[in-house]
Amino acid sequence: MAKETSWAKPVSKALRAAGVRVSAIETAATPGFKGDKKAGERLLAERTAVLSDLQERLYANGRHGETRSVLLVLQGMDTAGKGGIVRHVIGSVDPQGVQLAAFGVPTPEEKKHHFLWRIRKQLPRGGRIGVFDRSHYEDVLVVRVHDLVPPEVWGKRYDEINKFERKLVDDGTVIVKVAMFVSLDEQKKRLMQRLERPDKYWKYSVNDVTERGYWPAYQEAYQAMLDRTDTDYAPWHVLPCDHKWYARLAVTELLIDALGGLKLEWPPATFDIEEQKRLLAKA
Ligand code: AMP
Ligand code: MG
Repeated sequence: MAKETSWAKPVSKALRAAGVRVSAIETAATPGFKGDKKAGERLLAERTAVLSDLQERLYANGRHGETRSVLLVLQGMDTAGKGGIVRHVIGSVDPQGVQLAAFGVPTPEEKKHHFLWRIRKQLPRGGRIGVFDRSHYEDVLVVRVHDLVPPEVWGKRYDEINKFERKLVDDGTVIVKVAMFVSLDEQKKRLMQRLERPDKYWKYSVNDVTERGYWPAYQEAYQAMLDRTDTDYAPWHVLPCDHKWYARLAVTELLIDALGGLKLEWPPATFDIEEQKRLLAKA
């Protein structure tokens, strides 16, 4: 478990969404963590090994009929660091056991269906960690901010999402929802970097500038999302993301918690070990 010397309280408690005002989030804070960047990076290396071991157990059990899974939902404004979490946290575990899905503007075919249609297709199978880089929550965020469907339609989606997630949890998926927040200033810095570095142009979208004008509307939409879809079976974690090292460490800990809660043993041998040793020795 998390070292007492570094975490003042468990990360899931430190990041609780209940009662959080989005406009008051301190995006440069490192809730629950006592150390600095160096200490954080040191701890991350240790904890990554723990995460990797737990993920291998889940995958091994998946090969032996395990039906449970973990779903990490990453939701955040551009530059919040969703890609960094995928690359650095998820990138540290065996890709065989990961099902990654990024959700962009719906395709014409997706638009013809219910908003959860494309989401359902990407749910993790038993024994896997599913990762959503953006998610069904876009359908109450960008869609709400830009009036992409009438309010009567998006207004009903909060309850639909809660029902959908309730069923998922009942069917054995542990949902880890992370809402990632950077400040408007930090976002500007990160976008400017994308414009200054040829290896980052590909991440830049001309929309990113216009979207900044909708910041207050997005804050309102994120607030409604937290208020209406933070449930005891699928709680939101509010993650300050100005410090990338902290965001990565915190998500690593959340995943360790989720996987640890499954209490996974290594699957037992389905054969007679001694007999197989004898046969192998002679083979
Ligand atoms: P990125 O994650 O930077 O590749 O950008 C993906 C874009 O797709 C973002 O601007 C999202 O807001 C947008 N997007 C994702 N889901 C939806 C949706 N359901 N409806 C409209 N736009 C969406
Ligand atoms: Mg983008």
